[in-house]
Amino acid sequence: MDAFYGKRLVIMGLARQGRVLARFAAEAGARVTVTDMRPAEKLADVMAELADLGIEYVLGEHPMSLLDKTDVLAISGGVPVDAPLVAAARERGIQITNDSQEFVRRTPTAVIGITGSAGKSTTTALTGVMGQMARRRTWVGGNIGRPLLADLHKMGPDDVVVQELSSFQLEIWTQSPPVAAVLNITPNHLDRHKTMAAYANAKANILRYQSAEGTAVLAADDPGAMMLKSLVKGRLRTFSLEQEVADGAFVGDGQIWLRNGKDVPVCGLDEIKLRGEHNVRNVLAAVTLADSVGLPVEAMRKAISTFTGVEHRLELVRVLNGVQYINDSIATAPERALAAINAFDEPLILLAGGKDKDMVWNAWAERVRQRVKHVILFGDMAAMMESRLAGMAGLTRVETMAEAVQVAMDTAVSGDVVLLSPGGTSFDAFTDFAERGEKFRELVKEL
Ligand code: ADP
Repeated sequence: MDAFYGKRLVIMGLARQGRVLARFAAEAGARVTVTDMRPAEKLADVMAELADLGIEYVLGEHPMSLLDKTDVLAISGGVPVDAPLVAAARERGIQITNDSQEFVRRTPTAVIGITGSAGKSTTTALTGVMGQMARRRTWVGGNIGRPLLADLHKMGPDDVVVQELSSFQLEIWTQSPPVAAVLNITPNHLDRHKTMAAYANAKANILRYQSAEGTAVLAADDPGAMMLKSLVKGRLRTFSLEQEVADGAFVGDGQIWLRNGKDVPVCGLDEIKLRGEHNVRNVLAAVTLADSVGLPVEAMRKAISTFTGVEHRLELVRVLNGVQYINDSIATAPERALAAINAFDEPLILLAGGKDKDMVWNAWAERVRQRVKHVILFGDMAAMMESRLAGMAGLTRVETMAEAVQVAMDTAVSGDVVLLSPGGTSFDAFTDFAERGEKFRELVKEL
């Protein structure tokens, strides 16, 4: 019988994750109440989809009285853990969970969980391709794509499951996946996690509850990730671009090496289709993870030599008059924009802007001055960025991304790269980074 059977479950937030969890829990025999700030008119489609499940709704508010009849409170990734209802639930000793945690609790297979400040989606997708190349049935989801809980009933013990996990999802976890990777921990989302310690602590949950049979994969070159070493109870594996590692993956003689008792060459660096040093790190992580669930090296190599990346991440949109237009709309923090800038050797025209979330811009500004031929600033934080780049010769400030694209085309000459790698979030003008990236694609295709 499922752990939800007979339980009274309140789900806060009826978005993608909430709706999958609502169906799953109701079918498992829970008494489900959904609460959402939006009114019924706005939720009509989802409510119709869930109509046969006897779910109760409390809409337009999150009253405290909900907790009087609750065993478990599930929150979606968008709900902060210090929201009044969540804090009150915690005080009353009500169990707090989310869909990704409930998936890990029930999955029949050795789930690979992946977190980090940057590189999650790329590493998750690439590891998934390695699973497919090995001809294993493969499921990729979590923070990327659709919640894995939706497909739990179809999964078997030999499947490969790769789960991308954000710090928001991990924050409330009390169980870890058997194979877990932390790619890096750099300041990100400090608007919500407040301190770096709280942010690292949330990420640490991906391996904190592993057993001695678990495998933890950490980035040897990242001090933030390596700080979690003391929490590892099972096998510790690492990957590095700079040094050989005891157990894991590294680079030597222009090759990717897997170390697993013995040294096995995986492929040449020149076979990697992804651009940039940061992506070599992501490849090393994927290799270590794939090996940790028994995927053969041949499958890794096939995946590495065919995988060209996930959309909105250094995605080549068009080559026009010898100028490459690159969409890196996902870069919503300065470290990410920096990684993108460092991925190119060509002269760069950078489109930067968006909305700030209390980030540190010094390193970004310094690199932009060194490497960027012309920077075009747009959106909410353009003025802030302009003051950081004061005195830079090639600098234009505009209002919108559309104007920025136009200026970029007017400025660029053959051989240049026009790079949208904003550094800020998209919430000043778009619903999310994907919408911003799509708009950029559209604008570029119209040029
Ligand atoms: P996430 O899923 O964590 O947001 P992605 O794989 O989508 O990460 O990559 C987003 C962007 O972050 C990339 O376009 C690149 O600019 C940067 N990035 C990716 N991997 C790394 C890495 N390992 N280290 C630093 N920056 C990275």
